[in-house]
Amino acid sequence: MIESTFEIFADPVFILIVGFFFGAIVGSFLNVCISRIPLGKSIVMPSSSCPRCGDPVSWFHNIPIFSWLALRGQASCCDFKLPLRYLSVELFTALLFAFVFFKFGGVGEFDLVCTALVFVSILIVVIGIDFETMTIPDRFSIGGAVAGLALSFSFPSLHGFSADAMLIERMSALFISVTGVLVSSASLYWIGAIAGRLINKEALGQGDVKLLGFVGAFCGWEGGVFVIFGGAFLGTILLIPVMLFSKFSKVSHANNQQNQLGWGMEIPFGPFLGMAALIYFLGLREFVDGWLKGIISNFLFVFSQ
Ligand SMILES: [Zn+2]
Repeated sequence: MIESTFEIFADPVFILIVGFFFGAIVGSFLNVCISRIPLGKSIVMPSSSCPRCGDPVSWFHNIPIFSWLALRGQASCCDFKLPLRYLSVELFTALLFAFVFFKFGGVGEFDLVCTALVFVSILIVVIGIDFETMTIPDRFSIGGAVAGLALSFSFPSLHGFSADAMLIERMSALFISVTGVLVSSASLYWIGAIAGRLINKEALGQGDVKLLGFVGAFCGWEGGVFVIFGGAFLGTILLIPVMLFSKFSKVSHANNQQNQLGWGMEIPFGPFLGMAALIYFLGLREFVDGWLKGIISNFLFVFSQ
């Protein structure tokens, strides 16, 4: 009986399905966090209600992913349009959770699954809130960094140590995490300070620097360095077409350019940093770490001659 239970958990299709449904439910809660935390509202009470007319949302209209699609983005109570963000966050969380279950869900790696789900969930909320409000609440950046330090000591497999680690290995994982916080946030701080001097205005928010501390706590300094450059790269390749387009379309919409993207407009950097952190943590970690270690050992070799 026990054996067959383990067999079902070893089935990749089953793991993917469980991860997807669990992620859809968590994604629904993350939507509540993204909507309510910037407004200073409780994320527990009251239960879901329509932001327009205040009618309570029935359970049938509150099923993650399904309800949005069934209602085609139109609230059942009034003419409120359900934001596309509700569906995107639920779907995105579901897909990422399925991937985490699949990648880390092997026997003996359940602690890695849990720490990965915490990291991914916080990143999704940060991406959503920064995208909509241009701020990153301290409870996620500073709070997330503290959580990363605690999880590194409690579950050292986060930094590649075995799950049944000794105290010395737990201390090493904590050291990697502390170094990650300090090196990552300091690197972005100095890059921002120098860039700010060059363009003669504030280039980065404090929120981004603190966010990098959170990323470093979970990913170590290698992840932090990757996320700085990866985030800048993603921002550049995704925004240049948008900016060029809005620059051209401004000619025809000259009286309505207040809300348009354009050169010199403030754009949140957090969502790009967050996406780069997800790419590193879920995909490129081994590759990037190996590459950076190779560079450093070559560098040391040259200077030891
Ligand atoms: Zn309504």
